[in-house]
Amino acid sequence: ARAAGGAQHAFFDAELNARSRARALLEAELRQALEAGQFVLHYQPKVDVRSGRIVGAEALVRWQHPGRGLVEPGRFIPLAEEIGLILALTEQVLQAACSSLRRWADAGRRPLPLSVNLPASSLADRRLPGRLGELMRAHGLAPSSLVLELTETMLMHDVDAAIEVLGELKARGFGLSLDDFGTGYSSLSHLKRLPMSELKIDRAFVTDVAQGGPDAALAVAIITLGKELGLQVVAEGVETPAQSAFLKARGCTLQQGYLFSRPLPREDFERLLDEGCGP
Ligand code: C2E
Ligand code: CA
Ligand code: CA
Ligand code: CA
Repeated sequence: ARAAGGAQHAFFDAELNARSRARALLEAELRQALEAGQFVLHYQPKVDVRSGRIVGAEALVRWQHPGRGLVEPGRFIPLAEEIGLILALTEQVLQAACSSLRRWADAGRRPLPLSVNLPASSLADRRLPGRLGELMRAHGLAPSSLVLELTETMLMHDVDAAIEVLGELKARGFGLSLDDFGTGYSSLSHLKRLPMSELKIDRAFVTDVAQGGPDAALAVAIITLGKELGLQVVAEGVETPAQSAFLKARGCTLQQGYLFSRPLPREDFERLLDEGCGP
């Protein structure tokens, strides 16, 4: 048994080794990718289901890996956060988002606010509002054309500090969206102090919403809460007509999800804008 245990140890060591080597490789590739500009944004429309019109979009980052193809953010964002590359990545995401907004304005398209996801660490920098203001000025864009998506978990970490930075962002005119709402541990008393403009109902509540169980009750409660707080309420991860109809009947008319469109490369998204996207 002892011998077998030893062999098992050796096996785990080898596996651990392989894993840390894979990680080190990924780390090196991630640094390279930032320099080579291998990150691209895909765009998912936000739809007002009353009119069927696209009223906004969320920019979602992908890694165009030379060998592995398109890599989803779930596979590299956590590592980028861990090894201190997330702010450099965020910088590129913001630049790309602003380039697209600029391009759409130049093409004479009607203004479409673009949402970007900010990592938890970004709010720790008190210079964030000033920097974002500068970025918008450099692109000749109004801050209101950018919506910053933040998760409740990151805001609850240091509520007073978050409120201060958010207040400054709001004063400058940026949209502020509370992402993944309901999945964290925010206290409702803190929530009402946050100067948000939008609340996103997490897909976790949307999935079973049409079944009428507890998730439906929670979704309805979140819609009511958001409206009471004067926020735009957006449902994310809407995949079926039944989910969409339920949410619409309960007053949540802003929706996002595969039912309308997957996140698309810029050219495809522009085509969607030209053609419209009714489910
Ligand atoms: P998120 O902000 O909650 O984004 C929504 C995710 O749900 C996206 O996954 C989107 O593709 C997916 N989705 C949209 N509609 C549907 C649907 O109907 N059904 C299902 N099953 N999924 C749907 P994605 O693009 O893989 O992004 C995952 C997460 O990675 C995002 O979650 C966000 O937290 C993070 N992320 C994405 N882009 C960025 C970025 O530029 N910066 C940072 N810091 N994080 C990002
Ligand atoms: Ca988001
Ligand atoms: Ca979300
Ligand atoms: Ca989510």
